Amino acid sequence: MTPHTKLFTPGPVEVSPKTLAAFSRPMIGHRGGEFKSLYAGILPRLQTLFGTRQPVFLSTSSAWGVMEGAIRNLVQKRALNCMCGAFSDKWLDVSQRCGKPADGLQVEWGTPITPEGLDEKLATGLYDVVTIIHNETSTGVLNPLADLAAVLRRYPEVVSVVDTVSSFSAVPIPMDELGIDVLLTGSQKALALPPGLALFACSERAFERAARATDRGYYFDFLEFKKNQEGDMTPSTPSVSHIYALQSKLDDIFEEGVENRHARHARTNALVHDWVRQQGFEFFAPEGYRSVTLTCVANNRNIDVAAWLGRVKKKHGLVFDGGYGKLKGKTFRLSNMGDETEETIGAMLAAITECLE
Ligand SMILES: *Cc1c(COP(=O)(O)O)cnc(C)c1O
Repeated sequence: MTPHTKLFTPGPVEVSPKTLAAFSRPMIGHRGGEFKSLYAGILPRLQTLFGTRQPVFLSTSSAWGVMEGAIRNLVQKRALNCMCGAFSDKWLDVSQRCGKPADGLQVEWGTPITPEGLDEKLATGLYDVVTIIHNETSTGVLNPLADLAAVLRRYPEVVSVVDTVSSFSAVPIPMDELGIDVLLTGSQKALALPPGLALFACSERAFERAARATDRGYYFDFLEFKKNQEGDMTPSTPSVSHIYALQSKLDDIFEEGVENRHARHARTNALVHDWVRQQGFEFFAPEGYRSVTLTCVANNRNIDVAAWLGRVKKKHGLVFDGGYGKLKGKTFRLSNMGDETEETIGAMLAAITECLE
């Protein structure tokens, strides 16, 4: 493989040579039989990963395209954006920029959204859409999705949108069983694909809601996705390269076994956690709410993170993340997403330890 800096950042993450080879296959037309069998061929495995019997859609955009699309398709009354970090906070801004009435359910960065907090807001009867980020990548907080979904099931008039960009396929997320209305993910984080593709699925309730919206736009119109998927196509020209890469990645995932993949993430994450404790660092997220795909480490030792990053990159050709937004320098993040194994995470930890002082 071409010499390059290996990414241990929580997105984008390292893409395997096999995936890159699939990504660079020759082009095919997106309205022909070859494309249709490509899409139809990957659909059942996508449905298994999504835990849904609904169709799974392929959007040539990053995740934000579908996140904004969800607001435009679904909000007719008022959105409640659950906010606990950089990505989830931004969703309120996006709702407002789409011209939709919206409020935030804001908690302090590093803490999770609680079922009680959500229930209290929904009890006002003001809202018809709730957005939740499952794994808040900026803070390393894994929100208690099953508990939040249980609250949401008591409010059938509220449509839920759940972002799983950095947790998808690393932990079980049974969309239908939880009653999630829109589940979405992106390509360059938990799936370890190149950036530029988003995947999502919608419940019947979400389609019914969208059908009543008069300003869905075109590119992210959920009903256009549905209509085209029925013929194994996408509304507009998709990034076929991404779909080849996704097909290859699904082969990898199902060859490994979905449960084995979950277990591998748990093991590699535990290695990082052990390292954090051994080094006398602290976790930014509280116990019980820690991501299994990345670790957001509090810089309680007051290390010069930027200088440390520079030494690691120069000496070992790998990078981790020096903290997102206002957490820059106060935290750093180590990713175990995608294809990482005990061996590669062990090597990363050895490299960063060597360069620590
Ligand atoms: C990275 C990320 C996004 C945004 O993804 P883009 O690919 O930049 O659109 C959204 N949500 C979460 C949780 C993320 O980690």
